[in-house]
Amino acid sequence: MVKQVQIGQTGLYVNPIGLGTNAVGGHNIYPNLSEEMGKEVVRTAINYGINFLDTAFYYGPERSEVLIGEVLKEKGNRQDIVIATKGAHNFVDGKVELNNSPTFLKEAVDKSLRRLQLDYIDLFYIHFPDEHTPKDEAVGALQELKVAGKIKAIGVSNFSIEQLKEANKDGYVDVLQSEYNLFKRSAEKELLPYTAANNISFVPYFPLAKGLLGGKYNINTTFEDGRSKNPLFQGEDFARNLQKVELLRKIAEDKQIEMSHLVFAWYLTRPSIDALIPGAKKPEQVIKNLPTLDVQLTQEEIDEIDLIFR
Ligand code: NAP
Repeated sequence: MVKQVQIGQTGLYVNPIGLGTNAVGGHNIYPNLSEEMGKEVVRTAINYGINFLDTAFYYGPERSEVLIGEVLKEKGNRQDIVIATKGAHNFVDGKVELNNSPTFLKEAVDKSLRRLQLDYIDLFYIHFPDEHTPKDEAVGALQELKVAGKIKAIGVSNFSIEQLKEANKDGYVDVLQSEYNLFKRSAEKELLPYTAANNISFVPYFPLAKGLLGGKYNINTTFEDGRSKNPLFQGEDFARNLQKVELLRKIAEDKQIEMSHLVFAWYLTRPSIDALIPGAKKPEQVIKNLPTLDVQLTQEEIDEIDLIFR
């Protein structure tokens, strides 16, 4: 039985290594995805005791939720699986707009429930803030859905500290999902201290910095997806980043562990980070992440990694 952790103050308990599913049916994020492979990734995760699945309406759009729904149906019993999904994107005449209005969010939850073939969602996030809706009103709508039993916990994602404070005026926010990894640590300034002080769980996305922290790329690696334009992967910055990754590799080799395990274990030492959602395109990647749970870091190792990426 894998160790389970509580997500913030919610009633949700998960294996700290979850699964991010933007590569499961996320055709608008990664080109040439096989949906059958995506379903196999989800099946493998569940078979290996991963019970925290992170999806969104936007991934596909819709396909990630649909494929996950099909796998859950196949499995028959979703009770032990914590499903997190997100909404806020609205496709209007081929263009995407963000909408956090109570009416839109309530409809978004109903549609996600249908695609996932579920009668409740464990954790529903507002995927991105819009410019118009007061954030406490948006979260208030989710609180009503929680009382109605349609969702079990409330999340917000990509919110600034001001938006988060406004969203949490009544203390309803359970989880914040934001970009955070060893290369992108700006959340340490205000977001992480706020979540830690308010018992909000912080779920970092891009934990492997789009694969860069997995240690398998070198200066000659080329990318066909969004990474070809991502600043982390450009010119001198890419070269400098790879040098840092090599320092990390040395620590991992001394401990005889994989780099990704070292990186994940480091995140789990941060206050208010309870669980991670690394993405995977293949079943092997899902299985490969699990030994993280056996990694013990000394305070010296935690500080050394901190310093390399400071
Ligand atoms: P990530 O975890 O930083 O990188 C995942 C990529 O790393 C994989 O697609 C794979 O790419 C590679 N990889 C996976 N396991 C590996 C391992 N053990 N060793 C080395 N490389 C490995 O980024 P992500 O998947 O884009 O983000 C994680 C999840 O966060 C997403 O699936 C999604 O659920 C969520 N997310 C949320 C938001 C939001 O706005 N809230 C935004 C982005 C993502 P290759 O096979 O190509 O190397």
